[in-house]
Amino acid sequence: MKVYKFGGSSVGTPDRIKGIIDLIIVRAERENCRAVVFSAFQGVTDQLIETANLAAAGRADYTDNLKIIENRHLEAVRALVDIHHQSNTMAVIKMLLNDLDDILQGVYLIKELSPRSKDFVLSFGERLSNLVISRALVSAGHDCEFLDARTLIKTNANFGNAQVNMDVTQSNITAHFSAHPLLQIVTGFVASTDKDETTTLGRGGSDYTASILGAALGAEEVQIWTDVDGVLTSDPRKVTRAFPVETMTYEEALEMSHFGAKVIYPPTIQPLMSRGIPIRIKNTFNPSGFGTLISADALPGKYSIRGISSIDDVPLLRLQGT
Ligand code: ADP
Ligand code: ASP
Ligand code: MG
Repeated sequence: MKVYKFGGSSVGTPDRIKGIIDLIIVRAERENCRAVVFSAFQGVTDQLIETANLAAAGRADYTDNLKIIENRHLEAVRALVDIHHQSNTMAVIKMLLNDLDDILQGVYLIKELSPRSKDFVLSFGERLSNLVISRALVSAGHDCEFLDARTLIKTNANFGNAQVNMDVTQSNITAHFSAHPLLQIVTGFVASTDKDETTTLGRGGSDYTASILGAALGAEEVQIWTDVDGVLTSDPRKVTRAFPVETMTYEEALEMSHFGAKVIYPPTIQPLMSRGIPIRIKNTFNPSGFGTLISADALPGKYSIRGISSIDDVPLLRLQGT
């Protein structure tokens, strides 16, 4: 059994989403995939942050941003959901955006954005994208269910970077999946506290959502689908000759990601490493490529160095005193 995750880079436009739907239809049954985690549409999380910041600054034009976000999702519905289910899906989107508008109106009035409100605002990115994609999959003839991960993944109240309570989360996931045999389309990044307040798992956290699910379900593999051919020897935006690393150990992947390789969110690795579940990084735009397989017993590479990563803008602090 497998768990897939598609990042924002794979769901930027309706055309790209269409490609992913075809990919899921071809692979999910064959590979016994039980859950697919999606991020927000590309750029939407950043747009939500910007919108919330505008509202907190008392700028009434935050509503322009909201309109852009709404139009983007409605356009995706028109392109991907069959005509009979479009108006119902659009109604749900409008309802969600009304909720979002209510909270932003509050932020605008009191000119204050608490970490708690910010997490609630950000949750709309994944809730909207997964709603549209799940309806699009059903329209394409593939049965599935939308799953709001906030109902299963429980965290502390460290808004913006919440810590997961693995025991409760594990039993919630096991119970849910044993009662829901259909493919689950799961909101990445979002979770909730024991008081049902919305939290998020840190930027890039949808990878972690897939890892939590894969670990709890005892998956045979978790696949992270993105826009590059796997973990590359270095950041392709900085090094044009970077090339994919076919296999690497969990420790090597941890080190690369901790020190700047954005392709995997660092907390993703631990839950899978402790259960020996391999992680495969795959390219949505080159599905037949091998990608990168991260596991306990990676083959020694051709080179003595697996990869090089870097972090920008690191301040160096020198403490000196009497
Ligand atoms: P997603 O939206 O799929 O989660 P991300 O933007 O979070 O995608 O991560 C993929 C990006 O990570 C790539 O497009 C690439 O620019 C960047 N990246 C940085 N370092 C590496 C690396 N060593 N290997 C692969 N990608 C890297
Ligand atoms: N949408 C969230 C972000 O942009 C989570 C993710 O993409 O993994 O950080
Ligand atoms: Mg990412």
